[in-house]
Amino acid sequence: MSCKQSQVLFDRAKKCIPGGVNSPARAFKAVGGTPRFISRAEGAFLYDEDDNRLVDYIGSWGPMILGHAYPMVIKAVQDAAGYSTSFGAPTKAEILMAECVCRMVPGLEKIRMTNSGTEACMSAIRVARGYTDRDKIIKFEGCYHGHGDSFLIKAGSGALTLGHPSSPGVTKGTAKDTLTADFNDLDSVKKLFIENPDEIAGVILEPVAGNMGCVPPRDGFLEGLRSLCDQYGALLIFDEVMTGFRIAPGGAAERYGVKPDLFTFGKVIGAGMPVGAFGGSSEVMSVVAPDGPVYQAGTLSGNPVAMHAGLALLTELEQYPEIYDDLENRSDQLGRELMQVFDEYGLTVTYNRVGSMLGFFFCDGLVESFADVSRTDTAFFAEFFHGMLEEGIYLPPSAYEAWFVSHAHTGDVIRETARAARSVLKKWSSPSQGTASAR
Ligand SMILES: *Cc1c(COP(=O)(O)O)cnc(C)c1O
Repeated sequence: MSCKQSQVLFDRAKKCIPGGVNSPARAFKAVGGTPRFISRAEGAFLYDEDDNRLVDYIGSWGPMILGHAYPMVIKAVQDAAGYSTSFGAPTKAEILMAECVCRMVPGLEKIRMTNSGTEACMSAIRVARGYTDRDKIIKFEGCYHGHGDSFLIKAGSGALTLGHPSSPGVTKGTAKDTLTADFNDLDSVKKLFIENPDEIAGVILEPVAGNMGCVPPRDGFLEGLRSLCDQYGALLIFDEVMTGFRIAPGGAAERYGVKPDLFTFGKVIGAGMPVGAFGGSSEVMSVVAPDGPVYQAGTLSGNPVAMHAGLALLTELEQYPEIYDDLENRSDQLGRELMQVFDEYGLTVTYNRVGSMLGFFFCDGLVESFADVSRTDTAFFAEFFHGMLEEGIYLPPSAYEAWFVSHAHTGDVIRETARAARSVLKKWSSPSQGTASAR
């Protein structure tokens, strides 16, 4: 499969854009090689600048839950754009969007739109701090909440609970207010509450971690966080940027029946347009300006084209809940068929799935935390990624990213994927190569 045009464009991009990309994961650093420059997409397929057809398991990192260029979404964008692309004044579409999301998500009463998941998460912790009049937040190792300063913090080593910036440019002052716990480990959270009495404003997490592969919450984990937050007077924040409208119409709050105090959204909510949102109960959201003193704003927030796009997608999801049964069945089919292929070639793989979010880890044993995820064989994944790409299957370019199945991934597309995996592993197990047999 040629990627000549992509290579030419990548070389050119690197001269005027840092690393040639506008978001680092796109640069293929974790797997090496040439990122594919995409020219168009439809349904389950991407087409790159060399006109290769690729089965897409990224789906723009989540938004394309009904597949690319979904007709209702495209029409909504075209219609809305014809009336101008922004007003900087309120519109009816924003109300329709807020009403729709509050209907779909249990426990959500008021919502404010932003332009990205990052902004939504930054704003949510500001609300938690403003509401509780406390400074510190707890996050979990391996969870991602965008590139806000407060989230680019890693745990201190050993007995030191003080966080460290994980990126230059984040100040030590910011780092000291972010505490890090271990996903699926309630004791690690309790310890932080005990060590920081009356200081924790909120606990933020991905209720199903999707930025370290796919790591579901253990039974009782979310409920346990709910009671710890209640006990210590902190707000529970579900970052549903990935899980929202994906693992159920009402996201993780619906699927697991646990009600957070604050939610953040992104990805699906904008149908591929730049949209995020944060919300919660009317009482908590009453601190947000102009009702309350917690400042938050955005020139393009609630943008009419973006609202109509998101609304078109959410309306489909709300109207046809059987979509979620299909997503469940197809994702299950993908998991089973791939695991069978891995098994045929004697590979040790651990597989997690929640709805249409999947994680394959090239290691043995349960994968329930960041430490577990770190055992995956990233070198093997990089080889597998390129093998699959050569067969026309576009996986996320990192062993630490979840795979997404869309409603456009039919049984045929999934069988094609399993066939591709079989042909990759078969090539390697032939006597002349032997990569897979060594593992
Ligand atoms: C993608 C993501 C974000 C950040 O959203 P952006 O729109 O990329 O800023 C935040 N939280 C989670 C869980 C995400 O998956």
